[in-house]
Amino acid sequence: MHYFLYREGELYCEEVPVRKIVERYGTPLYVYSAKTIKRHFQVFDSSFKEIEHLTCYSVKANSNIAILAMLCKEGAGADVVSGGELIRALKAGISPQKIVFSGVGKTPEEMQLGLEAGILLFNVESAEELEVLSEVAKKLKTKAPFAIRVNPNIDPKTHPYISTGLKKNKFGIPEEEIIDLYKKAKDNSHLQPIGLDIHIGSQLTQVSPFLEAVKRLKELWQELNHLGFEIKYLDLGGGLGIVYESEEPPLPEEYSSAVIKELKDLPITLILEPGRVIVGNAGILVTKVLYTKSSKEKNFIIVDAGMNDLIRPAFYQAYHKIIPLEDKRDEEIVADIVGPICESGDFLAKERKISKVQRGDYLAVMSAGAYGFVMSSNYNSRARAAEVLVEGDNFFLIRRRETIEELLALEVIPDIYL
Ligand SMILES: *Cc1c(COP(=O)(O)O)cnc(C)c1O
Repeated sequence: MHYFLYREGELYCEEVPVRKIVERYGTPLYVYSAKTIKRHFQVFDSSFKEIEHLTCYSVKANSNIAILAMLCKEGAGADVVSGGELIRALKAGISPQKIVFSGVGKTPEEMQLGLEAGILLFNVESAEELEVLSEVAKKLKTKAPFAIRVNPNIDPKTHPYISTGLKKNKFGIPEEEIIDLYKKAKDNSHLQPIGLDIHIGSQLTQVSPFLEAVKRLKELWQELNHLGFEIKYLDLGGGLGIVYESEEPPLPEEYSSAVIKELKDLPITLILEPGRVIVGNAGILVTKVLYTKSSKEKNFIIVDAGMNDLIRPAFYQAYHKIIPLEDKRDEEIVADIVGPICESGDFLAKERKISKVQRGDYLAVMSAGAYGFVMSSNYNSRARAAEVLVEGDNFFLIRRRETIEELLALEVIPDIYL
């Protein structure tokens, strides 16, 4: 469900013709729908209303500070995976007591930042990390609240790059080591074991792997409870999939009811870390057709957005729907839609059926709100795209386009070459 719809052959975002925004800010351009993001958050969050819970939006999916501030107003907490994301979340107004800090490679400096801010908890991913967390807490004369991320060895049946709960993945700690770690932490006056955490992957389209993960968490919780630990938080991570093409992911309601059924009798607060499901279908990447070329074998549509703007097709072989801003209902062709970057991997779509376009036409790459702009780079010295947020019949520039001068400003020619 989203608010990018054609009206009389012209693509609108909510009440604004996308062309109008593009004429103001140029391409490539990310356009987000506030109404869609809010709706997704509310539908997701309220599906868990029967149970004590905290929805911590996964900042890495789309970390623009305007979007974080909007989600903060909607009541969201944040799941962050770096000091940078933590600073963003705090700046956006999110209460530290609604922030959880995940990730396998937190530095002592990042831990200090989190402890000084007073975040809810750290999701710890190795025995060594727990030791360092304790040292940092000791230095600050405080106590670090933490959960341990369990690696449950569950196959989420998604793309290998985004499955995270298998033994061969770098994430979490094997189940059989968890209890010992908590026992060790018990006597440490700088550590406060308060949670158990899991995150098995992204773009999951079935409930069953989630359910299996919840059951494992529950078993561990019971075991820890038996040993006298008061584990107040169970963090289920994110991972709920969205429709890019013809997937049939579970509705939030189906996911939540399965989870609630399993956990409703435990005296815990559930933490959820949805990312993609909140913002994925709430954003598009608008790009301009630079050239078309055809040979006997192939049609190419060369556009001004490349893999540096949206890497998902190149990186994950991801499918994104691509539609014209003006639906002229022309004859259809089959074409590769490619960017300007000097790599054969630089494509947005391959062998795609699309209505015939010409130089100067605009295309919208759909479902680009999650893992879109945030994964963009400056490869080929391309300045990163601008981002616009639409709210009803208003639109706001929430990040202006970079300039080449800004990129060069960080670089220095040593005197010896001058
Ligand atoms: C990426 C990530 C998420 C969000 O995943 P989605 O698939 O976007 O919902 C949540 N938690 C952790 C720890 C993550 O790494």
